Amino acid sequence: MSEKILVIGELQQGVLRRVSFETIAAAKQVHAHAEVVALVMGDGELQRAAEEMIQYGADRAITVCHANLANYTSEGFGQVIMEVMQEENPAGVIMGHTAAGKDVTPKIASRLDLGLVSDAVAIENDGSQVIFTRPIYSGKAFEKKVIKGDGLVFATIRPNNIAALEKVESRTGVITAKAVDVKDLRTIVKEVIRKKTTGVDLSEAKIVIAGGRGVKSAGGFQSLYELADLLGGAVGASRGACDAGYCDYSLQIGQTGKVVTPDLYIAVGISGAIQHMAGMSNSKVIVAINSDEEASIFNVADYGIVGDLFEVLPLFIEEIKLAGALVS
Ligand code: FAD
Repeated sequence: MSEKILVIGELQQGVLRRVSFETIAAAKQVHAHAEVVALVMGDGELQRAAEEMIQYGADRAITVCHANLANYTSEGFGQVIMEVMQEENPAGVIMGHTAAGKDVTPKIASRLDLGLVSDAVAIENDGSQVIFTRPIYSGKAFEKKVIKGDGLVFATIRPNNIAALEKVESRTGVITAKAVDVKDLRTIVKEVIRKKTTGVDLSEAKIVIAGGRGVKSAGGFQSLYELADLLGGAVGASRGACDAGYCDYSLQIGQTGKVVTPDLYIAVGISGAIQHMAGMSNSKVIVAINSDEEASIFNVADYGIVGDLFEVLPLFIEEIKLAGALVS
């Protein structure tokens, strides 16, 4: 079996998403001595992104630039990935379990009659087989999966779970610009109009401050944004808060929203319904602020504050500001 692994670098507004670097670390966990080949696609300058993939541990990189890759479509990106797979004949292919990753990888797996392990949070090679751990039943249990035989190891990894390797600025590798005629697309995305956000991507944020119905208004969310700014985090929400119109549905975390696994999750005025917990219970440290000491969120919280959020949050923010002032 060739020990070459293809990883997909994903650009978002010209910048690589952090999960791209995590795919390189994942490839090394599949085969410690694998040659890691990074694929970066888009329309525009790709050299910098290819160099960055190498700095994060890829051995070489392939760039494919085409006008039809300006915006993601499963047909366009799928054509390129399949053509590179055919040419490189890798033993494995790894992509982030992002919106694009969730969309394109099953289509490729189906087209090429391959197995796919999706949403892996840990990978281990015990010498005879590669074992993937992935959450099931909305994160309430984990299963371990192996790909039998010598089949291609095709997987997506959940952002924020497999630590990226250290960036080494001086690392270099061969970058090849490959021409692929991306054609016959049935769908072309002409323009993507992005919602204004604080800048930190919710699904990749290391710190998430999430508000629920207890926050009581859109104005109430302002202190969550202030705290997120101070901590360099992102704001999320329960469906209760979204339904009440306090914030946009793009912030919803849970079974029917985004799944997040930050280092720190602060739940403010969220009861902890099972559907909400499906999206955040695997966070590393959970802090809950709720006036009801019986709230279910306390069952998964590492630290709980029973109190009125309108009293607790300002104190919390003052403390963080004070700590920041002391450090600087
Ligand atoms: P509530 O349950 O109303 O909780 C508000 C909390 O705020 C309470 O615990 C209260 O004690 C506390 N509080 C009130 N005032 C204060 C105060 N001043 N200080 C401190 N605490 C205070 N929900 C999701 O979040 N994500 C999903 O993806 C999702 N998907 C769903 C899918 C389906 C099919 C269904 C049926 C439901 C789904 N839900 C989802 C909805 C879910 O069941 C809950 O209704 C929702 O999570 C409740 O939101 P909440 O915790 O903000 O509101």
